Amino acid sequence: EPALYIVSTPIGNLRDITVRALETLAASAVIACEDTRVTGTLTHRYGLKTPLMPYHEHNSDRQRPKILETLEGGGSVALVSDAGTPLISDPGYRLVRDVVEAGYNVIPIPGASALLAGLVGSGLPSDTLLFAGFLPTKSGQKKTRLAELSVIPATLVLYESPRRLGATLAIMVEVMGADREASVARELTKRFETFERGTLSSLAQTFSGDAPKGEIVILIAPPEEKPEADEADADALLIVAMADMP
Ligand code: SAM
Repeated sequence: EPALYIVSTPIGNLRDITVRALETLAASAVIACEDTRVTGTLTHRYGLKTPLMPYHEHNSDRQRPKILETLEGGGSVALVSDAGTPLISDPGYRLVRDVVEAGYNVIPIPGASALLAGLVGSGLPSDTLLFAGFLPTKSGQKKTRLAELSVIPATLVLYESPRRLGATLAIMVEVMGADREASVARELTKRFETFERGTLSSLAQTFSGDAPKGEIVILIAPPEEKPEADEADADALLIVAMADMP
């Protein structure tokens, strides 16, 4: 039976791919990928001959019907992204929705994702989690979003570009308070993987200079449970309230 397979690929270390992922990629009629050069490196490394088809933000409306045609013809399609798990701050959601609607199976082949790798190495509570993806880039919108997130009783996971890391941490100190525990995961699964753990203010200090090299996940501990909201919580609530005012 044909299916759309959502296949996780490595986030840096090419050996982080499952046996089942490799078997699925080999058995699919086509691999829909963000960038054929990036995925080509992976298929070449593992000797996979399955044809590649670009599927990204800018051609997805055009490509989606082709994927449905492949399924109609009895062929399975594997969806991959440049790194990690598709749909996680990556394309694929609309495709999954359309394939489900068309009545075909959607089968995840789980594997690497910076979200979970960052969480489990952070040292922060892992029982309740809110993945917020990328923050808005404009500082006003970033503040508003952080204020909304600040009061949620969960460990927060965010993706951020190394270029913006220092400025974002400084805004986090302002909105969420200097003492909130946090962790910055860099270059996960790669040679120079590091975790910086500490308070938001100490992390803002650490990353106040030049942009660090490599990819970044920011993790923030849940707000401390207190009977009374403290000043940072009050500031956060105020920023949320102001954002809703005309
Ligand atoms: N789909 C991917 C996943 O499952 O993690 C995420 C794709 S998103 C476009 C790319 C962002 O993920 C990067 O900017 C970075 O925040 C994070 N990321 C990806 N690989 C990473 C790595 N090896 N180390 C740290 N962060 C990483």
